[in-house]
Amino acid sequence: MPSFQTTPGTRDILPPDAARWRAFVEKFASVVSLAGFQHIVVPMFEDLGVFQRLGDATDVVTKEMYDFIDKGGRHVALRPEQTAGVCRSFAQHRPTAPWKVWYGGPNFRYERAQHGRYRQFDQVGVEALGSDDPLLDVEVIALAVDFFHDLGLRNVVLNINSLGDSGDRSRYVDALAQYFQSHIEKLSPESVATLQRNPLRVLDSKRENEQSVVSQAPSISGYLSDEAASHFAQVKQGLDALGITYVVNERLVRGLDYYCRTTFEFQSTALESAQTAVGGGGRYDGLVEDLGGPATPGIGFAIGLDRTLLACDAENVFAHPSTQADVFVIDTTGGMQALQLCQQFRNAGLSSERTYGARAMKAQMKAADKSGASFAVIIGTDELSQGVATVKSMVDGNQEEISLESVVRHVATQLGKVIS
Ligand code: AMP
Repeated sequence: MPSFQTTPGTRDILPPDAARWRAFVEKFASVVSLAGFQHIVVPMFEDLGVFQRLGDATDVVTKEMYDFIDKGGRHVALRPEQTAGVCRSFAQHRPTAPWKVWYGGPNFRYERAQHGRYRQFDQVGVEALGSDDPLLDVEVIALAVDFFHDLGLRNVVLNINSLGDSGDRSRYVDALAQYFQSHIEKLSPESVATLQRNPLRVLDSKRENEQSVVSQAPSISGYLSDEAASHFAQVKQGLDALGITYVVNERLVRGLDYYCRTTFEFQSTALESAQTAVGGGGRYDGLVEDLGGPATPGIGFAIGLDRTLLACDAENVFAHPSTQADVFVIDTTGGMQALQLCQQFRNAGLSSERTYGARAMKAQMKAADKSGASFAVIIGTDELSQGVATVKSMVDGNQEEISLESVVRHVATQLGKVIS
């Protein structure tokens, strides 16, 4: 056993998985930049107060925060998500609205670590600040739908709901609290505790023996103001117009307190574990103001990278990107030829590999086979004395002798690559 291992809830992302992570983020960037979203990077830790604005009734804030006093006596916390940081950034820099940004990177939550639930996990996401147009909600949801589709996922279900405006929400929370209070004997001790902190979260209960009381609880739709109801109707119309299928799920309240109006979540039906949510988001029209900025509506979502890749595995899509080299250089004259040729290939934009430590021809050939390279370029003493290299196709085994000066251009042509 080595002296140190990763701590619970953290993992090394080793090759080739790390390359797949990067490809995931690159794909996300290409989908969202088509809609005008620009990359933003916010700090991994902030003043604790930034995250406390997420609401003091959420587990993320009350139980899961990695907070500490730094050497300067500031109370800071590792970010548990990135929406609060983006809104703090908006309040600080006051960019022109609408401000459409995307991000990617790790978040930290002190959760019970399990398969698909980690203490350090990555998200990609978008935030659009400065418009309360319901068609913006549709556009944002459509981006996530497009991205899942581009990954190749087919078994992702979109759930949507409206939480109304803050007044609607508080009237609903009161009604819900009253309802659960009158059925308190049917609730588990855990739900009774949740009821004190946040009655909405009781709706999330998965406990079998309280499903009947939960399912008969009042629905938010009965409490929506005319404006919020009309906003929600327009979101549904927009989704219909784009041919996006969805399920209206009135039990969808989501973990973070700041959501209002549109809220949504994506579930993978291909994942068998308890952790099936691959992403979610919603409107948070009061958050920027809470953080000291001007009143600014906003909407966004976050997609869990780790868990979405598990869904890709379950659906057998989004394979690891190829790590195969274009060329494997075999040099039995001591290694100097391989050093120079590899460099020439790389300068021309072709990937090249070799072995190290003056290995025998057989061992080098074996390594070339294993590498999956398209061509082997072989230089032995005979070739060197004639100023040529043997270029061997690793696909059909054909080989030819090419002068050392033109070997890079020759291989590039064979691979259909243009070099300058
Ligand atoms: P949230 O910020 O809680 O709305 O989460 C958005 C998405 O991030 C979820 O749907 C998950 O896919 C992912 N996620 C949240 N927490 C974790 C975690 N602890 N480990 C892995 N993925 C997570």
